[in-house]
Amino acid sequence: MRVFFGIEPDQPTALAIDDWRERQFSAAARPVPLANLHLTLAFGGELPLAAIDELCDRVDAWLSDEPPGAAQLLLDQTGFWPGNGIYWLGPSHWPDALDRQAGKLRQLLASAGARRDRQRFQPHITLFRRCEQAPPLPAQPPAIALQQREISLYESQRQREGVAYHVVAAWPLPQR
Ligand code: ATP
Ligand code: MG
Repeated sequence: MRVFFGIEPDQPTALAIDDWRERQFSAAARPVPLANLHLTLAFGGELPLAAIDELCDRVDAWLSDEPPGAAQLLLDQTGFWPGNGIYWLGPSHWPDALDRQAGKLRQLLASAGARRDRQRFQPHITLFRRCEQAPPLPAQPPAIALQQREISLYESQRQREGVAYHVVAAWPLPQR
């Protein structure tokens, strides 16, 4: 099963992102479907079911021991990665606690057998994929609040129509 940890925006937030995106980039190609909008915390990749069970146990243990507070983010920055043509929305500033959350999840994934991700963590929500060049700067800069409610473990499934994600487990975090 192909898995990753992420933050699932609630429906009003996902709609606000989609709305803003539509107003700024009406002509751009390959928007990520509304239902797929998410912020990846840590990517695991393909893991056997037994490893995922164990992973969930370790998340349980971590969170009952020292739960991090939920992150409050302001999505106020866009970015473009030419390598994979991803155009994204993310926060320009975020709490260190979010880096620690992502770091801990990467560590738990690695101990479950996942390949270690050594890239710097850049919180982002992919808006468009396979852009050949950076889309024009948005006329109206984004300012969308994203309140984390939980840590979600997603299964990523390749389908004929494209990729689909399903939340297979979620851990609510203390709200500040
Ligand atoms: P597809 O790969 O089918 O085009 P996708 O990239 O959305 O779609 P996955 O590859 O399963 O689906 O990735 C799930 C999430 O994890 C996405 O947010 C993706 O950006 C992120 N991700 C995928 N591979 C990595 C990786 N090697 N390192 C960090 N994040 C990754
Ligand atoms: Mg991918």
